[in-house]
Amino acid sequence: MLELNKISKEYIMPGSVVKALNSVNIKFRDNEFVSILGPSGCGKTTLLNIIGGLDKYTDGDLIIDGISTKEYSDKDWDSYRNHRIGFIFQSYNLIPHQTILENVELALTISGIEKTERVKRAKEALDKVGLGGQYNKKPNQLSGGQCQRVAIARALVNEPEILLADEPTGALDTTTSVQIMELIRQIAKDRLVIMVTHNPELAEKYSTRIIKLLDGNIVSDTYPATEPSEKNSHKQVDKKSKLSVFTAFKLSLRNLISKMSRTFLVSLAGSIGIIGVAMVIAVSAGVQGYIRSMQNDMLSGNPVTISEEGFNLNSLISSRSMSDNGEAVIKNIEDGYVNVNNTIDYIMSRTKELSSLRIKNNINQNYIDYINAMPAEYYNAIVYDYSIDMSNNIYTLYNLENKPDSLISISSAKQIYSSMLTKTEYKDMTSMIQSFTGALYQLPDSPDFILSQYDFITGKTKSKFPSSEDEVLLVVNKDQELSDLLLAELGYYSQQQFLNVVYKSAESEKYDSAIEKTKFSYDELLDKKFIWYPNNTVYNKNTTGNTSVNPFTYNYTADSSWTNGKTFKITGIVKPKEDLSYGTLNSGLYYTESFVNHVLKNSLESQIVNFLKENEQSAISSGKVMGNNTGITYEYNYFIEGTEYNETGFVGSISQMASMMGMMGGSSGSLYTLTLRNLGGNDLPEKISIYPVDFESKDYVTAYLDKWNSDESIEVNDQTLTPDDRSEIIYNDNLSIIIDMINTMINIITTALIAFTALSLVVSTFMIAIITNVSVLERIKEIGIIRSLGGRKGDVANLFIAETFIIGLSSGVIGIGVTYFLSFVINIIVNNLISFKTICALPVKSALIIIIINILLTTISGLIPAQSAAKKDPVVALRTE
Ligand code: ADP
Ligand code: MG
Repeated sequence: MLELNKISKEYIMPGSVVKALNSVNIKFRDNEFVSILGPSGCGKTTLLNIIGGLDKYTDGDLIIDGISTKEYSDKDWDSYRNHRIGFIFQSYNLIPHQTILENVELALTISGIEKTERVKRAKEALDKVGLGGQYNKKPNQLSGGQCQRVAIARALVNEPEILLADEPTGALDTTTSVQIMELIRQIAKDRLVIMVTHNPELAEKYSTRIIKLLDGNIVSDTYPATEPSEKNSHKQVDKKSKLSVFTAFKLSLRNLISKMSRTFLVSLAGSIGIIGVAMVIAVSAGVQGYIRSMQNDMLSGNPVTISEEGFNLNSLISSRSMSDNGEAVIKNIEDGYVNVNNTIDYIMSRTKELSSLRIKNNINQNYIDYINAMPAEYYNAIVYDYSIDMSNNIYTLYNLENKPDSLISISSAKQIYSSMLTKTEYKDMTSMIQSFTGALYQLPDSPDFILSQYDFITGKTKSKFPSSEDEVLLVVNKDQELSDLLLAELGYYSQQQFLNVVYKSAESEKYDSAIEKTKFSYDELLDKKFIWYPNNTVYNKNTTGNTSVNPFTYNYTADSSWTNGKTFKITGIVKPKEDLSYGTLNSGLYYTESFVNHVLKNSLESQIVNFLKENEQSAISSGKVMGNNTGITYEYNYFIEGTEYNETGFVGSISQMASMMGMMGGSSGSLYTLTLRNLGGNDLPEKISIYPVDFESKDYVTAYLDKWNSDESIEVNDQTLTPDDRSEIIYNDNLSIIIDMINTMINIITTALIAFTALSLVVSTFMIAIITNVSVLERIKEIGIIRSLGGRKGDVANLFIAETFIIGLSSGVIGIGVTYFLSFVINIIVNNLISFKTICALPVKSALIIIIINILLTTISGLIPAQSAAKKDPVVALRTE
């Protein structure tokens, strides 16, 4: 069955060739106990390894069952070792981190035998060698003799036809040696046993045949086999030995567990990079999520707007300053010249750029119709702003010194209070107060939208959403407050009460705590009377005097004979809901859209509007500035502590520029303008505000608005508008600009941070590669054992790939776990500091991707060490101590 035909083995060493075997011829019987005797270094181990298929002969042939092995592939050798050969070594070669049961099982594992069968057979084999009941001991808990019994059990568990023993008793004392030899003799009863020894007595006593070797040559053979025995009915070598990937995982896992603390440290070190990357992604996702959640909220404060005039913020942001430092400039410097800087050109182009940013939109009736035809599901409300200054026409009762309960227009009251302030220690603030306070606004005609943001505080009986012309709504802030300025402006404060507040803040001795009013009942607020009077009542055309300078007179106090006023009813007080961050409304008094329509209708017919139209003047300017003396003035007087002051007031609003000049300490701006629009003289809105339903529908709104500027024809109210019928109208979507900017910034920062932290991921990958390499070096012996038991090269590689895979997985899981824990803690802390619920929110998908990337990186880092492990020569590996 087994025949060595002129087997030679040469080891090529640098500079010399060692001939370990020299044309050896031996025939073995199927069943005999052969001892190979010889001095150390004569080639015994080499011979045995060649017979066992662990080492390759350099010349000759090993004939198994009459078949040459010259054409054997690696797989054939692996299978041969696994199924037909059992090895026993002098140094036992057990795997230290596995129990003896697992050590024995390993041979069966490699054969691909399933678990229960494996355990059963391994236990039987251990029972046979007298180790029943000690299955779960580790090799280091056993004596040398017991270890050798385990090795024998492992060699026999696959029921090999050939048992190869290399000095099995070499490390044992005499008594134990005898026991082991008895065991081997038992085994030799029904198979071929080839034992290498340098002990002639043992060989003499136990074996049936002794072959003596000297310097690679056979010198004697006590019982040579002559005829090659006829073919034995042995098991066919067709089963391929195979270590499943699952088993590779289990072996690696067990190895990693046996080095628990090191594995943990490696995983922890590997996880640091992951924590970095994951935290960056978590914070970025958290902030983006926060912005997303704020978007809808912010929409109510930042509608899409279309203005007759304004700046195109979009192109302002995308316009970039040019600075052209061509090569010529650099060359000139090198050549020793001074270059000319083209400042004029720069200023010209900047000016051109800026003026191109200015929008002049032609909002005409067609456009209004187009806006009104927008699908209603896109928006909550559309507010048309005609820029009417209602404060000139709305009057209420003011309690002034020496003039209690006088019915004065809100605009003139503001003027009077401002003048008063100049007489107090508070005068520096006057111009600011005048231009910054407002009190009267138009209410979006959409109760559901407003009431989704605001709650009535006045209770059911006194609350109703204003709907008719003479109904108004009072809005207070989140803390249920109205500012003192607003209270003065709307006449809720008397002159005395208002000045007292000023005295208090100026720490004046005139302050009197008894007068101070710090709260108002709902009824006090609701019961105040506000009356609107039409233009023709408020403005009277002058027929005498210099009518070209003063065409109209303004009546700042209402006459008791006026009967055509419209008295308002405050239908309720609302305040923003608790969780509202950005509301649609400010504090103040809100009138209805139908009131605005009523005012428009009335004003368009009014004398003053017709006067402006006829004179083709867009505005009446008041005051002495800029040489335009046309204007509307009125004389007013007031008393402070008995002293009377007489002054001139101007109707209209101070232009932004003039108020800025006033603040900068220039002349206390007196350029007042009263435009046709201020007077309700234009029924085309100056500004349209569209409040989309949510962030998504905002895109529909802007798409709808974009369509107006497109090349297609549009159908509005059964009328076809070709592109020529329409002029481009640019809208402002400030919120998108802000959010785009924030998102771009977050993305840039995130990318930069990820790039930095990814470096640590790469570093940790290298570290894992190095540690895997160390592990390979540590486990060389194990590699040899697995190979001697018939494990394939691929099995060994799988072992280390599995190991790095597990480390990749565990460091990934640790990293993600730590990240989620940190996120949890940081979220609690941040939420306590500022109410910002989840600043860290690592998406599960990102977490999984990070773990997968980490596993890939570490597994790739394990490939090189794994390959080097697989390439290890099993003989060399086994010789390694
Ligand atoms: P024995 O087992 O009889 O003590 P070996 O078979 O181990 O002898 O070795 C036989 C000869 O081959 C010795 O001279 C030894 O030095 C040499 N040898 C064994 N293995 C190698 C090797 N891997 N490389 C070089 N020489 C080797
Ligand atoms: Mg030897």
